[in-house]
Amino acid sequence: MARMTMHILSRNAARTHSMLPPLSPKKSIELKVPMCCEVCEENVREELTVLEGVKEISIDVGTQKVIVWGHCDVRLEPYVVLRAVKKVKHRAEMWRK
Ligand SMILES: [Zn+2]
Repeated sequence: MARMTMHILSRNAARTHSMLPPLSPKKSIELKVPMCCEVCEENVREELTVLEGVKEISIDVGTQKVIVWGHCDVRLEPYVVLRAVKKVKHRAEMWRK
């Protein structure tokens, strides 16, 4: 019974929330990934595409910069993204500004 009440409450909360503007801008995570060609780019993209919460991916082989945008409602952790990229590119690291 308590569970049912919770469910109704959370549904109402979601409806109220959707009428408000987003509280924070889309979160992005920037990585420096050593890549030499399109194959590298594809490998990195494949690893990121399957990550939960990833909405958009931008990869620039020239600058070795990878930017990942997450959905507003999913908590996307930088270390999770980095760990995924490291599967194909061991020398990947967080982008230092
Ligand atoms: Zn390559």
